[in-house]
Amino acid sequence: MSDIQAIEGGCLCGSIRYRASSMPLRGVICHCAMCRRHSGAPALSFVHFAREEFRWLGDEPARYRSSEFAERGFCRNCGSTVSMHEEVLADRVQIAVGSLDEPNRITIDDHVWTSEQIDWFDIADDLPRFSRSSDAVASKA
Ligand SMILES: [Zn+2]
Ligand SMILES: [Zn+2]
Repeated sequence: MSDIQAIEGGCLCGSIRYRASSMPLRGVICHCAMCRRHSGAPALSFVHFAREEFRWLGDEPARYRSSEFAERGFCRNCGSTVSMHEEVLADRVQIAVGSLDEPNRITIDDHVWTSEQIDWFDIADDLPRFSRSSDAVASKA
């Protein structure tokens, strides 16, 4: 089987770069208030890469522990939101979709934490919506 073209991305200043050698396991748009604070955006979307298919090329993100369940990764130079790391999903790296070089190559599976969604922010798609965590993963954050 031929390899897919690697998926790459990084932060705004370029000091953090990464490469994944396989397509994401999952894509999600999270409407929770912590993602909103962390990113400054109305919602934050992530793709999950298998840990063994993913590597950091430049600097690794600095991490902020945002809850007992998770740490959030950001660039200590430019402040970009880059990643999330959850103990319960330790076999994965969750990467902020906005940091991908080619975000059109990935797909989103569902919306989570719509119970905290901003009233005026709505995305017109037919994907499943979960008021809290998705049934698809054990994520608590
Ligand atoms: Zn940066
Ligand atoms: Zn969230």
